[in-house]
Formats: sequence, C-alpha cells, structure tokens
Amino acid sequence: MNHPYSWIEDSLKTLHRANWYRRVKTIQGRGGAVIELEGRSLINFASNDYLGLAADERMIAAAIAATQRYGTGSTGSRLLSGHRDIHRDLELAIASFKNSEDAIVFSSGYLANLGTITCLVGQKDLILGDQYNHSSLKNGAKLSGATVKEYRHNSLEDLENQLLAHRHHYRHCLLLTDTVFSMDGDICPLAAILALAEIYNCMVLVDEAHATGVMGENGTGCVEYCGCQGRELIQMGTLSKALGSLGGYVTGNAKIIDFIRNRAATWIYTTGLSPADTAAARMALEIIRLEPERRQRLHQNINFVKSKLNNLNILPSEAAILCLPVANPGQALELSQKLLEKGIFAPAIRPPTVPTSRLRFTAMATHSLAHLEVLVQSIKESIAS
Ligand SMILES: *Cc1c(COP(=O)(O)O)cnc(C)c1O
Repeated sequence: MNHPYSWIEDSLKTLHRANWYRRVKTIQGRGGAVIELEGRSLINFASNDYLGLAADERMIAAAIAATQRYGTGSTGSRLLSGHRDIHRDLELAIASFKNSEDAIVFSSGYLANLGTITCLVGQKDLILGDQYNHSSLKNGAKLSGATVKEYRHNSLEDLENQLLAHRHHYRHCLLLTDTVFSMDGDICPLAAILALAEIYNCMVLVDEAHATGVMGENGTGCVEYCGCQGRELIQMGTLSKALGSLGGYVTGNAKIIDFIRNRAATWIYTTGLSPADTAAARMALEIIRLEPERRQRLHQNINFVKSKLNNLNILPSEAAILCLPVANPGQALELSQKLLEKGIFAPAIRPPTVPTSRLRFTAMATHSLAHLEVLVQSIKESIAS
C-alpha cells in the first residue's frame, strides 16, 4: 500500500517538470527601488510598494510610536479586546479618502474579500465574476455557497448575456471584478459594469488593491479614475501595496459596513490589525494626501517605460503593472534569469497563476530615470540574444 503522503512528492516532481515550481527568495534589509537579493544588489521591478512608502522613515516612526504606546499585538478580535482608537481613526480616514460613508479594516486584503463576499451572498444567490479576478475574489465566491459564473475578461457582452440568461433564477446577484487586474495591469470597464448592475439589480464589489494610491487625480483608485465616485457600490482594497503596510479595507455606505461588521467571519473571528500596521497605514494616507508628486512621479515612470518599449507588444496598461507576454513558462524563466544577470529583478509569472506566461514588472515612484533606462536596455538585449 502507498504511504498516505507519498502523492505529495509525485506532485512536486510534476511541478518541477512543468517549470511551475516556486520557491522563496530572501531579500536582505528594507524593500525599495534597489534591493539586496541573495547577496546581490538588484533594481527592483517586482514590488507592490508603488509609492516607495514601506521604507519611508515617517512610516517606520509611526509604527514604532504605535508599538510603544499600544504594544506589538492587538491581543484580541476587534469585537472583544482587540479594538483601539487607532483602528477607528484609520477606518474614518479611509472612508474620507475613498469618499465613502464608512470603512472597515481587515487583517489582510485577502481576508477582506473572503469576509465581505461570504456575508453578502449565499446559496440562493448568483455571483458573476471576471475570469481574471484575483484569487481572493474567486475563493470568496466559492466559499459563499452562491452559484458562481465567470464572464470573459472585461467582456460586457458576455456579462450581459449571462445576466440575461441567469439573473432571474436567483435572489441576489453580486458582480465581482478587479479594477486594475493584478497580473495584466489593464482596467475594468467600471462605468458600464455599474450600468448593467443597475439594469439587472445587482450588487457590485470592486477590488482596488492595485489602484489604491495609484489611480485617479487624488490617488484614491479606479473608481475615481473612471469617474464613478458617488455611485452605489462596495469597494475593497489593501493597505499592503501602495500604502506600504499590511491589512485590507472595505468601503461603502454605513449600513453595508455595519452589516459586514456584524457578519463577516474573517473579521469577527480573527485578531485585530496590529498597532504598527494600523499606524503605518494611517501615515501612508497622510503622505499620499500631502505628496501628490509621488504619484505623479510614478506615472511619469510608467509612461517612460511604456514609451520606450512600445514596439514590444507589452500588454495594455494604465497602471503600474506592465507585462511582456512570452511563449511558455520556460522562456519566461529564461528571460527573468537573463535580466537577473543584468541586475534587474522582474519575475516570470507562469501558470497556474495566469493562463499564459509573461514577464511582469512594476514601476515605483522611487525608481530613478537611470533605473528605468537599465530596465529598458536589458529587456531589449535579453530578447535579442
Ligand atoms: C494583493 C491583492 C489582494 C490581497 O491583498 P493582501 O492585503 O495582500 O492580502 C487582493 N486582491 C488583489 C487584486 C490583489 O492584488
């Protein structure tokens, strides 16, 4: 008889054979535009810290001050002993930043999506989600017990056809989409999705993880960028990307947030966000408000790279995520390895994360022009060789 765990070794071998195997890489010290990776200094194009806030001295000072005042852990769930005034301050600051009535902060963006989706819909309900949605939206949908259908990426036609065919069989319907798609960098047609939601009487939850701090005149996200502020919808985002901290948020009208506070298991049955993370996120919102030039610099950097690579069919993107499609996982790894040899850290993104392999690079506000020039030159040389 087989050992009950022996299949795991076989599965790992299969992952190796398919070039799907992953391992962690150790970065020494602080993250930033330049990092020390396994003893080498590399220009970092793999960070979600779009504004370069995670290593900002003001963020670090805020985290230290909160730790000294409140301790390292929040010591309980928010509804029991884990709630501090800084949690509510952060939530009110997020609500104000996002132009929403109220906000709730979760311990991660992933938990925010799981908790929100599972309390909004159940077995009698329907979820329609973009096929390229983030794992947390997809798993939240699965966990909710609702009937889940995917529509073709950014296809309003497919979305409407599915609404026509299925909506009337269900009680509530929830539409789910990333606003900036995390592995492609493109943007959902938000205004049109909201228009369909109105016609077919659907709730909408959008994931602003890669848009928060990056998109829109005030950096509040794609809802702002798409001119949809003030529309009825539920927005989530993370404190862990452009905000340089850890945690997730959900914003919406006060009743929705109150309901989530009462029903979301991933908020009720988990420990409140740590004082350090809470204070750092609050500081990030302050810096974003006071220093719009950071965001402007980020977009200058994005546009510079796009303009220099415009003859290499990189995927269309208005956000800080840029992708160069390659034929297969092996080639993606090879290209990433060649760039590594030239001092560039840009990961190969492969199945099963995405259907097709690619090199993915993200811009930061703290990249210098010289960093970007090295990137462009290295990509050109690596593809040619
Ligand atoms: C990163 C990400 C999340 C999860 O956020 P965390 O705070 O890292 O858990 C959710 N949705 C999208 C689209 C993301 O890219």
